[in-house]
Amino acid sequence: MTAIPILLYHCISDDPPEWIRPFSVTPETFRRQLDLVVETGATVRRVSDHVAAMAGPEPSRDPAVLITFDDGMADFATAALPALEDAGLPATLYVTTGFLDDASPRPAAGRPEGPWLDSRSVADLPAHGIEIGAHSQTHPHLDTLSAARARDEVGRPKAILEEILGAPVQSFAYPHGYSSRSIRARVRECGYTSACAVKNALSHPKDDRFALARLTVTAETSLAQVEEWLRGREAPIATSNEHVRTRAWRAYRRGRAVVRRQPGSDWA
Ligand SMILES: [Zn+2]
Repeated sequence: MTAIPILLYHCISDDPPEWIRPFSVTPETFRRQLDLVVETGATVRRVSDHVAAMAGPEPSRDPAVLITFDDGMADFATAALPALEDAGLPATLYVTTGFLDDASPRPAAGRPEGPWLDSRSVADLPAHGIEIGAHSQTHPHLDTLSAARARDEVGRPKAILEEILGAPVQSFAYPHGYSSRSIRARVRECGYTSACAVKNALSHPKDDRFALARLTVTAETSLAQVEEWLRGREAPIATSNEHVRTRAWRAYRRGRAVVRRQPGSDWA
């Protein structure tokens, strides 16, 4: 089956805040990684365009690569976007609305150190080929929340971003990459047409469009590793059935949900 690499970035910076440092890539390295993407000759799509291309009886067979960003740090506009534009590549940015610099009435309690994008810079991004998706209001582990809180964390950012953009927001990314059957149902009910998970696996044309597999690019990811991913190698292909170990891990994690997590310890 055709492997579809969906890359996940968080921060493109030479001097990131400490908490996100393990998930940060320098602008120079990011540009080299984009050069590798261009060299594949694959079609690079925004997530919603990709889901549309895979829908229907005859899904696109073109080799495809997707570039995604989570959280909404300010370096997206100052470092990632210029590199993407120079390479002529589109991308999808998932914004945690409670972390926006001008979040109303104030940014979410516990927001990690920024700088963060504000709504004006987010509104400007679609004109530069960027799809804006939602990444919750306060970046919780959604599968550990009450149904009412989970619904708010999924639905509110969509409304806030649609107000900012004056356009529909169609895609969601699960904070920390985790979801559950009921959370995925909530995402569908709220009117999203796709959602990204993490899984650190290659996606494929029949991947679950409400739990698309992504590959996290970290500070430690070598260019050779990125090249292997882009060739559809060196990573498992996501399966539709969850691996037993993943389930066991999730049950363990739920049990520990009351323990306060250190920012950065399992960020995604
Ligand atoms: Zn995140």
